[in-house]
Amino acid sequence: GMVGAAGTPVLTAPLPQERGGNNSFTHEALTLKYKLDNQFELVFVVGFQKILTLTYVDKLIDDVHKEFRDKYRNEFQQKGALGLLNGTFDFKDDFMRLLRDAEESSKVRAPTVMKTFEQSLKSQKTVKCMIETRGEKPKEKVKNKKNKGSKKDGTEAVAVPSKASAADKQLSAAGDKEELTKDEILQKNREEFFRRHMKAGEKSRSPKPDAQKEKGKKPRVWDLGNSNAKVLDYSNSATNGSAEACPVEEFDPDMALGDKNREPGRLYDLEYESEDEAEEEKVVQNPSKPSVKKGGLGGMFGMLKGLVGSKSLTRDDMDPVLEKMKDHLIAKNVAAEIAVQLCESVAKKLEGKVMGTFTTVTSTVKQALQEALVQILQPQRRVDVLRDVMDAQRNRRPYVVTFCGVNGVGKSTNLAKISFWLIENGFSVLIAACDTFRAGAVEQLRTHTRRLNALHPPESHGGRTMVQLYEKGYGKDAAGIAMEAISYGRCRAGVAGGVFLEWCCPSCCPPCCAPARNQGFDVVLVDTAGRMQDNAPLMTALAKLIAVNAPDLVLFVGEALVGNEAVDQLVKFNKALADHSMAQTPRLIDGIVLTKFDTIDDKVGAAISMTYITSKPIVFVGTGQTYCDLRSLNAKAVVAALMKA
Ligand code: GDP
Repeated sequence: GMVGAAGTPVLTAPLPQERGGNNSFTHEALTLKYKLDNQFELVFVVGFQKILTLTYVDKLIDDVHKEFRDKYRNEFQQKGALGLLNGTFDFKDDFMRLLRDAEESSKVRAPTVMKTFEQSLKSQKTVKCMIETRGEKPKEKVKNKKNKGSKKDGTEAVAVPSKASAADKQLSAAGDKEELTKDEILQKNREEFFRRHMKAGEKSRSPKPDAQKEKGKKPRVWDLGNSNAKVLDYSNSATNGSAEACPVEEFDPDMALGDKNREPGRLYDLEYESEDEAEEEKVVQNPSKPSVKKGGLGGMFGMLKGLVGSKSLTRDDMDPVLEKMKDHLIAKNVAAEIAVQLCESVAKKLEGKVMGTFTTVTSTVKQALQEALVQILQPQRRVDVLRDVMDAQRNRRPYVVTFCGVNGVGKSTNLAKISFWLIENGFSVLIAACDTFRAGAVEQLRTHTRRLNALHPPESHGGRTMVQLYEKGYGKDAAGIAMEAISYGRCRAGVAGGVFLEWCCPSCCPPCCAPARNQGFDVVLVDTAGRMQDNAPLMTALAKLIAVNAPDLVLFVGEALVGNEAVDQLVKFNKALADHSMAQTPRLIDGIVLTKFDTIDDKVGAAISMTYITSKPIVFVGTGQTYCDLRSLNAKAVVAALMKA
């Protein structure tokens, strides 16, 4: 490293937009960090190779600042900084001492150096957990079992993020909860979600291991999942543009993994309400409320009220029920116009139908609605990412996925989760940082890349780097960067020490690269800048990026918190892609990543709105802030939650 103190040429490049207090600037292989002293108009700059993840830079720059200022305070006060421009400062020895101190202090922290995946407790406990977990859940096959050594022991309680989400406005609309702050509501929902989730999960999984203490590790508390709350939230810390924002040393892989006994690489089904739990409820209810519900006398009267006998259903019969259903759907966060359309289609379907003898209008309508909802959530075309990646692999080209959506919905976070899932399935991932707009976006991805690599170091993948970031900083043309990334991911002739050397040929293609030499990536994940659906220029740019790069999969990332807004977003994103595409059959959105599912309790309506409006599948569901909380949608479970009173 090298430090310039007062008088060193000040950065001439425009400083990047800052959100945090720690300023840094990255150019090619170099990172500059600087600190301003407003009182004496001094700039302290540290330059270092960005590849070095120096953890002590902040301390160093602070220490140097303090010493330098104090040493020359009098002179500055007398002559001012400008008066000293040509002065000499006898500070070299002080600097060397401070540097040594800083280096030493970072070594003191060495015991917290991250364990490799293999060293972690998890790897030692796995076999037992695997056996227990596996037997219970045979419905999904594990495609790749390479990484068995990663079982979860527990996780640590962390403060809940105080950051208000972009979708808070949606929540405040729910009047009944107004007395809680938005964060409290999110928190409450998250607890509720994990309560159900864990309840369902715990039965089939091995008991909470208490043995952690014996191993000399601070016991972790599985705290209803909010323990994970801050884990993947680099959206703030990373925005100061600092490579040290989240030092690798402070990263606890156990925490980022969250779930205890998961099977690596497996995309679990979204467990919403377990059937067991529903049954339990019944058992509890029966003794206390004898024969009030179905079956008993009271139930019979109830049934008779709505009974139409063998008469055919008319609109008038159904209207009051449909009205109730519509309100119910809207209360569950289904977009209003979609709730109306859904009820309309149910009415059309049922009109004139002769009801069974002992059915009520209500139950008939309910059942029809339920069927319609399941149908919506089970779209015609299923997206099977792993299969498609393997197809691309056979053709020796990377499988390209583009992520789009508005700001703050969780694009980068869920892109990282998907990377993790792909890596656990044995695929290497190149992340293209095409959000060249939002300050901190690149750093956020860099942090994820570093953590993912720490969880899956090359050593455990035959020397192969499983995830890499392709970035060109800020302000550049995103479509161009995506294109470069895709060709970079395609095949490279040589890689040394993680540094790209040269292309093997201008349009690198299979014949010149034997498969074994193909050092490209299996998947390229393209992050794009968040944009509002009404911002025409940005939407055009997105359409261009997609048209030019022809990704295999275009994923729209949307948060489960949105209500009516969801429809508007999706319609406009799709329309923009259609309008601005140059192809005859324009590339539209292929699928949806539904995020923050853990924050909505049973208001699962966004899932319906989004699939209804695009008729595209929800490919992934994000349910937290850990790398392994990605789920696949379970249509029946979601519909059950939606229908629940
Ligand atoms: P982007 O602007 O779309 O890239 O959004 P980010 O990836 O930066 O995420 C915005 C915030 O949402 C961050 O605080 C994330 O930690 C958080 N987040 C993302 N996905 C989830 C999720 O599934 N559940 C919860 N609770 N938070 C999430």
